[in-house]
Amino acid sequence: MELRVFQRGFNFSQDGPGNRLVYHLQGCNLRCPWCSNPEGLSIDGGWITTPEALAAEAVRSRLMFFEGGGVTLTGGEVTLQWEAVLHLLSLLKAEGIHTCIETNGTSPHLPELFPVLDLLIMDLKHHDSARHKAVIGMGLEQTIANITAALDAGQQLALRIPLIGGFNASAQDAKQFAALLNRLNVGKRATVELLLYHEYGRSKYDKLHLPYTMGAEARVTNETRLQMEEILRQSGLTVIRT
Ligand code: SF4
Repeated sequence: MELRVFQRGFNFSQDGPGNRLVYHLQGCNLRCPWCSNPEGLSIDGGWITTPEALAAEAVRSRLMFFEGGGVTLTGGEVTLQWEAVLHLLSLLKAEGIHTCIETNGTSPHLPELFPVLDLLIMDLKHHDSARHKAVIGMGLEQTIANITAALDAGQQLALRIPLIGGFNASAQDAKQFAALLNRLNVGKRATVELLLYHEYGRSKYDKLHLPYTMGAEARVTNETRLQMEEILRQSGLTVIRT
């Protein structure tokens, strides 16, 4: 079994609790115009390794997993390689290592990972399926099904909403996100975090000779984020910042 990876490194608290060894897995099925890892989108890039090699590296790194750390798989989209990911997570769990994935939530295979997953971090990019499909290329149906499946399974779940100006970042959007999450009975069973749009990936687009289509209107102020957080909190959701 093989895994294609395009980046690895340690990161503190941004991708799950504590100090974590983070692997970025190659390939994504979506094309968000604001993606900060365009080099990870094609399924062909990166380098090839195995779940066994990554698990062995994690075991050797165990002393680095302080403050509740462990291994996080992110991307790209980890579920494009879900069978190898399932094997890797199983190896890590057998070693008692804390496991986390970050996913766009679009794979029907996602629930198969729950038994070997300590923390599921899932994107929720919009509250309206048609708008989600128009901008990103896929509706929200599978993402919603996966949120429901995670809640039903008692899976620890952290939802992340990337705030993009002109797409999903107004007080009205916050009310609609809250309505959607309350329809799903999220309540206190998951955390919700709002992330500000950033342009860290911009220079990568130039290097890859790809057009960067995001303009200044995509930027979101901290005041807007605070207002949206308050609306979500008032609706009974647990809003966090990591
Ligand atoms: S889902 Fe994530 S990795 Fe895929 S295109 Fe969107 S931002 Fe990039």
